Amino acid sequence: MTAHSSVINAIGNTPLIKLRKASEITGCNIYGKAEFMNPGQSVKDRAALFIIQDAIKSGKLKPGGVIVEGTAGNTGIGLALVGNALGFRSVIVIPETQSQEKKDMLRLAGAQVIEVPAVPYRNPNNYIKISGRIAEALASSDPNGAIWANQFDNTANRDGHIAMTAPEIFEQTDGKIDGFICAVGTGGTLSGVGQGLKARNKNITIGLADPMGAALYNYYKNGELKSEGSSITEGIGQGRITANLEGAPIDIPFQIPDAEALEIIFDLLEHEGLCLGGSSGINVAGAIRLGQEMGPGKTIVTILCDYGTRYQSKLYNPNFLKSKGLPSPKWMETTLDIPV
Ligand code: PMP
Repeated sequence: MTAHSSVINAIGNTPLIKLRKASEITGCNIYGKAEFMNPGQSVKDRAALFIIQDAIKSGKLKPGGVIVEGTAGNTGIGLALVGNALGFRSVIVIPETQSQEKKDMLRLAGAQVIEVPAVPYRNPNNYIKISGRIAEALASSDPNGAIWANQFDNTANRDGHIAMTAPEIFEQTDGKIDGFICAVGTGGTLSGVGQGLKARNKNITIGLADPMGAALYNYYKNGELKSEGSSITEGIGQGRITANLEGAPIDIPFQIPDAEALEIIFDLLEHEGLCLGGSSGINVAGAIRLGQEMGPGKTIVTILCDYGTRYQSKLYNPNFLKSKGLPSPKWMETTLDIPV
């Protein structure tokens, strides 16, 4: 019999999927790592698992304890599911602006969800800072104690990608990978995979795909943390150098507008059967740009971060998209004449 003893063992070992059109356009072999196939349907299951395991190992997280986190949603979903599997409760602080589908999933998983106004990181009422204060208060008031997952500055997040995601990618490409690129939320994925790949072959090029409204493109281009524009993508777009990002081996940054990312995810759904969230669109757009930069024949990997149904009310909703002046999926706007 082949079986996992727990859902947590089903995290990781996701397949690489060849992205046909992206490969055709560039003459490269572009692959997406299908992180939406994790149990919580996102790449953040990995960070959740490593953060929880690290807190258990260090003795900070005790049986029946509470895991508190500020999250755009996916890390919270991962923490709630892994927490349920291992006997921990979760309290999740999320900006109101994040998709209803993610909030519904968090409540479905039994997390206590606290929605707060979306304000910048420098504001003391930013969701991340509120989650830290709640964790501190619960750590002394709850009989089983509490931890703050602190995904942005807890490097157990990045370590998970060094230990797990990078070797998976290297082995899946038989060591022939030439380039890796993705966007940054906490930076755990880009920094961890980047470090893990460079340790195996320092010539692998690491790219950053930054959405508009984030400050990292300018930082890695000219050392200045400066942002311009905005993005409707969720879970990515960083304005500071988190602990997970420190020392990230980024060779080449790209800045990707939403319209470019959306056209790509609509096309991937219509022609390649891949239903993806917006950050995956930024990533695939970045992989195409990296392929064009590196030239034909290269093997490039990016991350397909989460599943598209998580954003049905936004990214795949023509009314929402129109209100933002963005393109919509064209099949949603055309209907066949049915002769009945
Ligand atoms: N895409 C989505 C949809 C996410 O939720 C996140 C995590 N916030 C990321 C990408 C970025 O991953 P990381 O935190 O490892 O930078």
